[in-house]
Amino acid sequence: MKVLIDEKIVNRHEVRVDIEDRGYQFGDGVYEVINVYDGVPFTLREHIARLYRSATEIGLLINVEPEKLMHDILRVIQANDMKNGGLYLQFSRGVAPRTHQYQTDIKPLLVAYPLPYKEMTHAQAIGVPAITKEDLRWLRCDIKSLNLLYNVMMKQKAFEVGAFEAILIRDDVVTEGTSSNVFMVKNKIIYTHPVNNLILNGITRTKLLQLFQENGWDYKEQTFTKQELFDADEVFVTSTTSEVVPVISIDGVAVNTGKPGSLTKEIQLAFSEMVKKETTQKA
Ligand code: PMP
Repeated sequence: MKVLIDEKIVNRHEVRVDIEDRGYQFGDGVYEVINVYDGVPFTLREHIARLYRSATEIGLLINVEPEKLMHDILRVIQANDMKNGGLYLQFSRGVAPRTHQYQTDIKPLLVAYPLPYKEMTHAQAIGVPAITKEDLRWLRCDIKSLNLLYNVMMKQKAFEVGAFEAILIRDDVVTEGTSSNVFMVKNKIIYTHPVNNLILNGITRTKLLQLFQENGWDYKEQTFTKQELFDADEVFVTSTTSEVVPVISIDGVAVNTGKPGSLTKEIQLAFSEMVKKETTQKA
């Protein structure tokens, strides 16, 4: 595997990360995962924009121009002869003697490399179980930071009971999954949590809202409660690498009939057409 580290592309075994890298010690950094379809990154610009936003929010000055960064990402895809899979990209604040506070002039460390292709076709077709957990994360979930400890802990809880995702609930309100945004359908209206500090503004989420508008599907960026989630006609989760995944049971209770909903299936189809269109246009 070829890895981009700063501006260089090297073999994985040549990469060395310093023990005093602040990403390693504090989770002090930001990241993105971009999906690559047949060698073409989908929504690259949107991911790069979110990365710079996250960096700005934590006071990390990315020392590379966005155009150069996008060019380097294409180099990683080429160097690995990548066809399908996720492209992982992170900036840590850099290397410095370990103190909580930091000097603003340390050099951020960029690393980018391919993630193995995640086969989702089956899960997307038949749906997945989910569980609910309390959302005990910090109040800046809009920042895509390397600090994923609570997300990791709750995803593990889901994994241990054979569920795909843990849906997080804060003050009785459904916020998002540990690595996905959550949608529900009730009486043909699609609901998802509004964009604020309590969720990550998912790129897949944004692209779906665009599709809802184009297709005239009614939607509301409005909070819904845990009970409303259980009473939903359809539930699905979205993310870059898993795309649109129907949720067919929550905490062991079937969602409606326990099968992927019809609107969810239409959304999946519309999304895959959108991906096809946007990744072939750019090829
Ligand atoms: N919320 C969280 C907490 C996530 O980690 C992710 C995955 N990046 C998402 C939502 C979905 O975002 P996206 O569609 O941009 O992958």
